[in-house]
Order: sequence, then structure tokens, then C-alpha cells
Amino acid sequence: MDAAAAREGRRIRVRGLVQGVGFRPFVWRLAQELGLSGEVSNDGEGVLIAAWGPGAALNQLAQRLAEEAPLLARVSAVEMAALDGMPASKDFRITASGDGAAAAVIPPDAATCPACLAEVCDPAERRHGYAFANCTHCGPRLTIAEAIPWDRPNTAMKVFPLCPACRAEYDDPADRRFHAQPIACPDCGPRLWFIDKAGEATGDSLQSTVAALRSGRIAAIKGLGGFHLACDAHNAEAIALLRQRKARDAKPFALMSADPASICVVSPEAAALLASPAAPIVLLPRRTDVRLPDTLAPDQDHLGVMLPATPLHHLLLDAFGGPLVMTSGNRSEEPQVIDNDAALTALAGIADVFLLHDRPILNRLDDSVIALDEAQQPIPLRRARGYAPAPIALPIKDCPPTLAMGGELKATFALLRGGEAIVSQHIGDLEQAGALDDYRRMLDLYCELYQFTPAVIAVDRHAGYLSTQLGEALAQETGARLARVAHHHAHFAACLADNGIPDSDDEHLGLLLDGLGLGDDDTLWGGEILVGNYRSARRVGGFPAVPLIGGGAAMREPWRNLLAHLAHAFGADWRTRAASVLQHFPEAGRLHLAERMLASGTNCPPCSSAGRLFDAAAAALGLHSARISHEGQAAMALEALARPYAASEQPYHAGLDAGGMLDWTPLWDALLGDLAAGCEPGRIAARFHLGVAAAVAEAAARIARPGQRVALSGGVMQNRILLAALCEALHRRGLAPLVHRIIPANDGGLSLGQGLIAAFA
Ligand code: ZN
Ligand code: ZN
Ligand code: FE
Repeated sequence: MDAAAAREGRRIRVRGLVQGVGFRPFVWRLAQELGLSGEVSNDGEGVLIAAWGPGAALNQLAQRLAEEAPLLARVSAVEMAALDGMPASKDFRITASGDGAAAAVIPPDAATCPACLAEVCDPAERRHGYAFANCTHCGPRLTIAEAIPWDRPNTAMKVFPLCPACRAEYDDPADRRFHAQPIACPDCGPRLWFIDKAGEATGDSLQSTVAALRSGRIAAIKGLGGFHLACDAHNAEAIALLRQRKARDAKPFALMSADPASICVVSPEAAALLASPAAPIVLLPRRTDVRLPDTLAPDQDHLGVMLPATPLHHLLLDAFGGPLVMTSGNRSEEPQVIDNDAALTALAGIADVFLLHDRPILNRLDDSVIALDEAQQPIPLRRARGYAPAPIALPIKDCPPTLAMGGELKATFALLRGGEAIVSQHIGDLEQAGALDDYRRMLDLYCELYQFTPAVIAVDRHAGYLSTQLGEALAQETGARLARVAHHHAHFAACLADNGIPDSDDEHLGLLLDGLGLGDDDTLWGGEILVGNYRSARRVGGFPAVPLIGGGAAMREPWRNLLAHLAHAFGADWRTRAASVLQHFPEAGRLHLAERMLASGTNCPPCSSAGRLFDAAAAALGLHSARISHEGQAAMALEALARPYAASEQPYHAGLDAGGMLDWTPLWDALLGDLAAGCEPGRIAARFHLGVAAAVAEAAARIARPGQRVALSGGVMQNRILLAALCEALHRRGLAPLVHRIIPANDGGLSLGQGLIAAFA
């Protein structure tokens, strides 16, 4: 048998996140090594290979495609078929992108890879000390994307023509930078500059920035997805100044550190997450033996820490030598600033110095935030840089093109089609004009990038959400079918989808503990037990509705919820039981006014929110009872207070009626008793958390079938003590809790759930 006859042909289809991640040159190198001829190209379905060679080598190719895939690739399938005919030549070639709907899937931005970092640190390399080095395995992606296909002229890099050295790397399939669209070097790429009060300064911009930071000043630093405001994390005066200028009195500041273990307890799982290409902020327990100003994260036992994720940040941290505060560069609650001119005006009153560069940030991407549960598994809190817009697999294969508009706070939208969803990055609170503008812009961009025309548009049932109104208008304009989805059903479905639960007639349980959302009966819900699936859900129990005294004011002033809960539990003579908490109410005039509102029902919508119950408990312990300065502040302080005792305390008891409705009266009774007896606040906080978990698990168990799945979602499920206690209690009762792992339990996850429900409706 001659050599030519032994050569077979194969058509190999690779699916998954395989474009813009160096997949074709990777295939090319494998083919060279294995002595194959043929070609590789991108098309609408992924990567397509036509290869000829000995059967054994072809099998090896298929196997190694999945096993040795590039760092940023995610191979979901490798399909092979026999191929007739002969190759056009005996070479193996990379051919231009073919056609197809989504021929230019844009991968998430990725942290500097080890090879690029080594170059930046090596004085012999031409990119030594260069803040914008990147390659096929790392660097900016969505932040610089303008249009499809994913080619340099369609990115923010179009204003930087390649120098001959970069061009040669770009054109060489054997090079790590083959077709790396954001490729750059000191000769042809973006540059840094430094501005202080005197104007643009000469000299080394990084060194000037470091000198300013060392002297306690605040620097606005243009990064990958937006500006950060930075200061020395050890300098309490600098932190106080930043808080004062930013009008941010207590919200925790994130840190950037090259060595998080020097300030926090870092498990192996946390270390891997920190060092992953997404490089998120990870919430880590503070080390008790390391002194850092408490004002970094008041009332918190954890710090949000990220590693440097761009060459700029590596160089900065290296030169500075310690942890830096790296909080988003904005005025109070506005979105992060992304361009130089806006920074120089909007941040003028906050930053003393500016470290700028000339690579435009086209799309704002906040830092992602992830917590870890007791088993050190990820609990996503904010999904943005490094994760969006990576596709999320759907539990169905034939989803019609569905656009889901999400909620109002922590807004995201989602494009669902076929077997995948693209969930946008966290955009922010749509009440902010800047965030709403961003939401519209991102929606246009994503629809263009994915060539997406919705057949169905899903919105929340709440007509007041700006995302709902936008969705209604869009449905009118395009003729797409509009589907209104109940808020907690969406949370429920989001959690099922996050866990890959298939669509079937099976019914699952959903425990939806949330701030608030509009329920099926048009009242405000937020502590619900639902039974159902993607297609339908019904309420079978939950928290009692308690008046929200003053409506929106009750969201900001925890004492109002304490009053409402005590009055609900004990009636008009609540004061006789509550001597130990009276000090946490405002002066008599305001308290009496609130009581009169309660008595007459004026501006007191009933609301079954779990979040407000936690606010009430926090207020009883004197935690921010008068006012919170950011969402969740009181509840987060309560959680941190409880943490040291959570493993050893016993739960408070709660009541449960035959209709599945919980009664918190016995819990309040015990809590007030403990307070009056002078029990340590941390123990009370722990007993409260465990009590809520035990009561909710008991309510679920009474309804559930053995082994039934229980989806845990809603913003309150970000509370890790509650989540752990609930999971434990459900497991103990033979049930199967499902926890969010990919998208947040908060309203950032709503869009995915809405989309699935609408697609089935
Ligand atoms: Zn790299
Ligand atoms: Zn160059
Ligand atoms: Fe919600």
C-alpha cells in the first residue's frame, strides 16, 4: 500500500467559544506537527477543519483539539465526518473567515497571560515595561469592540497602524500573536501619560503616579473597562479623603493586590479564581493579623480583592509595592467613566492626578465580583469584565430569538437563540441616566454583533421599570411578541437554567428571597415559595406581607421595617415588648407619624420582602437603623456580625401555618428576649439567620416530594450564612438545593430567566 492511499479525509466541526481565541493557529500547529494537509476556517457555527492524513493522526488531531485547546477557548463539541476528495495542496492552510450569522463572536476580555507578563518583565524584550502588551491568549476584547467581524478595523485599535515588527507577528501562524486584533508595541501602540494640577507632566508616567499614591494622593487611572480611583490601601487619611470626595461614606472599596494572601485568607480555590483569565474581584476573609484601615470596608469581615489583570496594572502594582484601593471611577452612584475628557471633568473634584492612555474604551465593563461559599465554590455577585459576553448554554436547543430586558437595578439584558444565551455585562441601575444610556447602547451593539432580531421580547411585569418600557416600545417597533414575566418566576427559572435543569413537566420548588418585585396579585413580593418550572409557577407559601411604611423610604430607613414587623407580630402594644430596641427609632415625632401611617394604611403597601425582614433585624441590633447609604448595607453588616457564631448557635423558631405561610412572631419574641437579657449581638444575629433558614426549609419540606430540586434565588441568597444554612437544612430533609454559579441570584440574573419563560409561553 503506498503512502497516498493511506491518507483519509475528515471534516471536523468544533463548537463552543472558539473564535477570537487563537483557535485556528492552534489547529495549524497541530496539523504541522501531525503532518496533515488541508485547511481550517471560522464560520457561523464555529471552527471548520478539512484535514487529510493517516487515520491515526486524524484521530489524534480530534482528541487534542479538545484537550489542548488555547487558554481562552471553550470547546463544547468536536464532530467528525468522513470527507471525500483530495486536498488542494499538501500544505495545511488557515483560510479567511467564512460566512454565517455569528461569524464574529467576541470573547470576554482576559487577564494578561504568563507569556505576555514575562515579556513585559524582561529587559531584553521589545515590550519590556509596555503597558498594553497582549496576545491571542489575553488582552482587551469586548471593551474595544465596535462591530463585526472581530477584526482590527472594527475595534478601538483601528487608530494604531501596525509597525513592521507587529505586522510580522500578526501574519505568522506560528506566532502567539497571529491575528491577535489588539496587538501593540511601544513603537505603534497606545501610550500612557500623566496629568497633575500643573498639567501634563514629562517623565515616567507610572513613576509619577506611584509617587502621587505614596504621598497619599488620589489617582484616576484609566484601565481596561473604565476608570478606577486609586489610593494607598494602608493610608487611612487617603481613604477618608476618597470617601469624602466621592460622597461614599461606607460602601466597601475593592482592592488590587499582587499578593492577596498578604492581606486576606486565600484558599486554593480562591487563588485559582483570582488568577483565572477573568480575574474577578473575589470576596476574601480579612486576615485578623494584618492591620488595614477599617474604613476600607466598614462592618465587613471580607475584602473584595483582585489581582492586576493588565500590563498597566502589573507595572503599577509592581512599582507601588503594596495593595491599592481600586474603586470604580465615578461620582457616587453614576456609572464608571470611560473616556479621558469625561474623566478630567467628572473626576476633577475627586482625583488629584490622572494616569491616562489613548486606547479608547468603547464599552464600559465593570469589574466582576464573586464570593465563595463554604465549599469554596463560586457565588457570582456581579458578572461583567472577563465573563460577558461568553455564551451560556441553555437547557433547550431550539429557543426562538428572544430578547429579555431584565430588571431595573443591576440591569442586564439577554439574547437567547438556539441553545445559547448571551447575557450582557452588569450595566447598573437604570434610574441613572448614564446607565440607561449605556443599556441602550449595549443593546444596539449586542444586537449588531450577534445579528440578532428578536421574535419574542420578555419584560418584567412591573410597568414602571425602564427596561419594561423600552421592551414595550421595541416590541411595538419590531412586531416581536411581548411577554410579561413575573419577577420571582424569572428568578426561579434563572436558577434552574444556571444549573442546567432540562425543560420537562417535572415541577421543582423555588425559594425566592429577594428585595422586592411585583407578584402575580400585583402586590410587592420578595419572600416566596413557588412550585413550577420554566413554563409556569404558582405560589404555595412564603413570608407574610408586612407594610412598607412610606414606600421607598422603607428601602432606605431600616427602622421603618422594624416598626412594621414589630407591629405585625405584636399589634398595637408592640412597645411593651420592645423596650430594648426603642433607642434605635428616630425621635418621637417621626416615629408617631410612621405609626399613624401604619394605622391608617397611608403609603404603606403590603410587601412580603425577605430583604426588609433582614433590615428589620439589623435595625433591632442598632445596625444602620436610621438610614443606609447603599443597598444591602444593614443586612451585610448583620451577616458579618453573625459569621463567627453561625456554626455554633441554634436557630430561633418561627411559625408555619397549613397554607405554607411563615409567622415571624415567635422569632421576634425570642430575639427581643435575648436582647433584653443582654445576649451578645453576634449570637442574636446568628440565631436570626439560622432561624430564617430553618423556617424556610421546613416550609419547603412540607410541600416537597422526596429528592425534589429546590432553586434558591433572589438577592437575599447572596447572604452566605443564610445560603449555607438553607442548603444544609434542605439536604438534611432529603431535598436537592440548586445554587447560582454562573449568573447572580440578584436582579442581574433576571434576564436569563425571563427569556426562557417567554420562549416557552
Ligand atoms: Zn498574552
Ligand atoms: Zn508595533
Ligand atoms: Fe429581584
